[in-house]
Order: sequence, then structure tokens, then C-alpha cells
Amino acid sequence: MSAIRCHNLIKRYGDTQVVHAFDLDVADNEFVVFLGPSGCGKSTILRMLAGLEDISGGDLQIGGRRVNELPPQERGIAMVFQNYALYPHMTVRDNIAFGLKRQKVPRAEIDLRVREVSDTLGLERYLDRKPTELSGGQQQRVAIARAMIKTPKVFLFDEPLSNLDAKLRNHMRIEIAKLHQTLKTTTVYVTHDQHEAMTLADRIVLLRDGSIEQVGSPQEIFERP
Ligand code: ADP
Ligand code: ADP
Repeated sequence: MSAIRCHNLIKRYGDTQVVHAFDLDVADNEFVVFLGPSGCGKSTILRMLAGLEDISGGDLQIGGRRVNELPPQERGIAMVFQNYALYPHMTVRDNIAFGLKRQKVPRAEIDLRVREVSDTLGLERYLDRKPTELSGGQQQRVAIARAMIKTPKVFLFDEPLSNLDAKLRNHMRIEIAKLHQTLKTTTVYVTHDQHEAMTLADRIVLLRDGSIEQVGSPQEIFERP
């Protein structure tokens, strides 16, 4: 069974179709990158996976269940956004704990999980600060911690490194790769950066104007004769 199955997936905004008959199976533990220029539909597909956007047609299954029957909070999905989307008035600790608190997980268990994920991401020292007191890279780590703590079945990343300077971008890219080696969580990662795609992906989905241009391993996509 695929972690994610898209069949003939379509998205329209009014009269404009922005995703055309999108077909893709994502296997368990796979790291798939959607690569393509701005406006090609990468985020729209990601947001449909997350349940942040209705699907206009076709079939989408997550963990073997059709999303029409699956409310967003039951999809086992956690998403990391380009602009981090942290709560500015909350501490780092409360930002990370937010999802578990909402699920009414007991405080002691939340504390333990916050310690685990902040340890993994090197955030122990920042737990009592506000996001605005952190660098971009640290804020993105908080966003990843907030996603990780939910132990999702699927991670979605929407251009997570685009707001970082080149050095941090490189550093965080390596951290995301390591995280995937450790957790093996199925991941769909959106970027317009070819280098990110080549170094992170098991498989790249090359998108253009809302359609798949090519699907393959980084070698297959970039080392064609
Ligand atoms: P990408 O993530 O590849 O940059 P998007 O998925 O954001 O592309 O956008 C795909 C297309 O859909 C673009 O042409 C964009 O203008 C359009 N689009 C995205 N969101 C909306 C919206 N809410 N209403 C109308 N058009 C939209
Ligand atoms: P609740 O939402 O359960 O009422 P709060 O978020 O109001 O808890 O927490 C109150 C204060 O305690 C906040 O300033 C918060 O930063 C801090 N805090 C929250 N969780 C912890 C924790 N696990 N350990 C220490 N301080 C915490």
C-alpha cells in the first residue's frame, strides 16, 4: 500500500485549471521532491495533500483511505511552511507543544516529547524564548520540531529553506536529510532549487504548468545522456 496515492488529481480556481490529471504514488519512507518553477502548482498539490485546499477532481488516498472520508487532522500529516508560521506570542516550548496540547495529551508526556524533539534539533536552550528572538534557521528548526512532535506518518515541506541565507540553507538541508535517515518518515518536499532536489530526493517529480513533466531518481532526471 502506498503512503500517498494521487490518481487523476485536478485543481481548478474558478475557470482556471492549475493542476492537470496528477498521478503519483508515494511509497512508505520515501522522500519525494516536487521540483519546478514558481507557479507550476507545487504548493497547490501539497496543500491538497494536507487538506488545506479542496480537490476539484480525481482521487487522493492517504494511508489507503480516501481523503473525502478523512478529515485533515486524521491524515497523520504534519506540514512545515516557508514562513515557519510560528505563533509569535508563544514561547518556543509552547509552539512545539501546541499540537499535542490540542490533542489533550497529558502534560508529563508532552514535556518528555518536547525534550526529545528539542534535543534532536538542538533547541534546548531556546525553549523559553519567543520565536522573534531567534534566527531564521532556529525558527525553522522550531517549525520542524512542532511538526515532528506529532510523529506524523507524512511530512510535507513547502520551500522550507527559501527564507534562509545560503550558509544556513545548506546547513538545514543537511539536517533535514539526517532527520529523514533517522526517522524514515514519508516526505513530500517542495522546492524550485535543483540542488536541494538532487541532494534530498529519492525521487523527483518535475512539474511544469500543473502537469508532470518527468518522474525519476535524481540520476535519471539530471544525468541523462
Ligand atoms: P508553486 O507552488 O509551484 O509556485 P502554486 O501551487 O502556488 O505554484 O500556484 C499554481 C497556480 O495556481 C499559479 O498560477 C497560481 O497563481 C494559482 N493559484 C494559487 N493559489 C490560488 C488561489 N487561491 N486562487 C487562484 N489562483 C491560485
Ligand atoms: P496551559 O496552556 O496548559 O495552561 P500555559 O501554556 O499557560 O499552559 O503555560 C504557562 C506558562 O508555563 C507559559 O509561560 C509557558 O511558557 C510555561 N510552560 C509551558 N509548558 C511548560 C513546561 N512543560 N515546562 C515549563 N514551563 C512550561
